[in-house]
Amino acid sequence: MDKFVVPASAKSWVEVAADSDFPIQNLPFGLAAPKGQDESVVVAIGGFALNLMALADAGLIDDEEFPILDSFIELDRGALTALRKVVYELLEESNPVLRDNKKLREKSLIPMSKANLQVPIPPMAFVDFYSGIYHASNVGKMFRPDMDSLLPNYRHLPVGYNGRASSVYASGTEIIRPKGQTKSPSADMPEFGPSKELDFELEMGFYLSHGQDPGKRITCKAAEDHFLGLVIVNDWSARDVQRWEYQPLGPFLAKSFATSVSPWIVTLDALEPFRVEGMEQDPPVLPHLRRQGNQHFDVKLEVWLQSEKMKSPQLICTSNMSNLYWSMAQQLAHQTSNGTPVEFGDLYASGTISGEERDGAGSMLERTWKGTEPITLDETGETRTFLEDGDVVTMRAYAEKDGLRIGFGECVGKVIPAVS
Ligand code: MN
Repeated sequence: MDKFVVPASAKSWVEVAADSDFPIQNLPFGLAAPKGQDESVVVAIGGFALNLMALADAGLIDDEEFPILDSFIELDRGALTALRKVVYELLEESNPVLRDNKKLREKSLIPMSKANLQVPIPPMAFVDFYSGIYHASNVGKMFRPDMDSLLPNYRHLPVGYNGRASSVYASGTEIIRPKGQTKSPSADMPEFGPSKELDFELEMGFYLSHGQDPGKRITCKAAEDHFLGLVIVNDWSARDVQRWEYQPLGPFLAKSFATSVSPWIVTLDALEPFRVEGMEQDPPVLPHLRRQGNQHFDVKLEVWLQSEKMKSPQLICTSNMSNLYWSMAQQLAHQTSNGTPVEFGDLYASGTISGEERDGAGSMLERTWKGTEPITLDETGETRTFLEDGDVVTMRAYAEKDGLRIGFGECVGKVIPAVS
């Protein structure tokens, strides 16, 4: 099964609040580990995580047809689509099978707060691109003020680097302030200690459903058939470490200490009504990277910041996925263009998605212009250039149109002091 888009008019017998990220049109997949129970693949509906193992145990899902329910292993895109349709049918308001089975309903619908959501798929490989054009050009303006803000390759290929998969953490995991080597311009020698310029990066990512063998490439046209779906990614960054270490080979320890991902893999089928063409690519890109149809998405992005003294978070960034110069399909086409094999569960992040204006800055680096223009936290009057210990960063993503809201939930991380 290639595609399954839930009808806009469909409703679930599970009550879904109007502002919920998870109406029946969404049905994203996650991995839950509720206390005292086995890990299970779950699907979000309203305020609940629907436990697919429990449904399989009760004979409502065929675990021979979908042998994936305790993890995502062996899942391909077609099976995921078929499984999502089975779940849709069970949740649709006129279907009594689960609706009228009180015992099973109580067993399978886990309140979100008790689901203990995990990294949906612990990736074997993690790649970070740099496809947010306003972020790339802001960084250029800050660090190479005498040159063009974009380097000559930027509009010809989606720049990226291989990140570290072992430090991809679930939303809610505390982020230990990294230590590293830094050097101030006036000092003779570098020093080693906790980063003083810890930052977030607002990104989106996609997971691969199935890979490609060595020597072959995935075209832009075929790329989306390899996507399981999308998540929010916070690519935590230590700017002071990065500045000193990155030449000539690029980011290393400044990035590899932590990356947070949101718990729900939102399918492209759920995002179908929100496809957009994306910004014009000029000059035209080479044929093997040329985009095919509407492969960008109109997804709103937010970053909220809360210090330890604040009672509620403050919105500090509003952006949109359509600020990506390169689509995710183009990123995968580029990744595989040299014939490298790719695999199920690989995670690819977009690069920081900043908007054109300052209130769309997807990092503190840009929001405070290298730390020269601190922001004020209105509730307490505190100021910030970079992140302090105790700060909580919450990222949200959602698409909205004609009363339909397809959301990603949250990607949350609290900064805690460096380990001594
Ligand atoms: Mn990044």
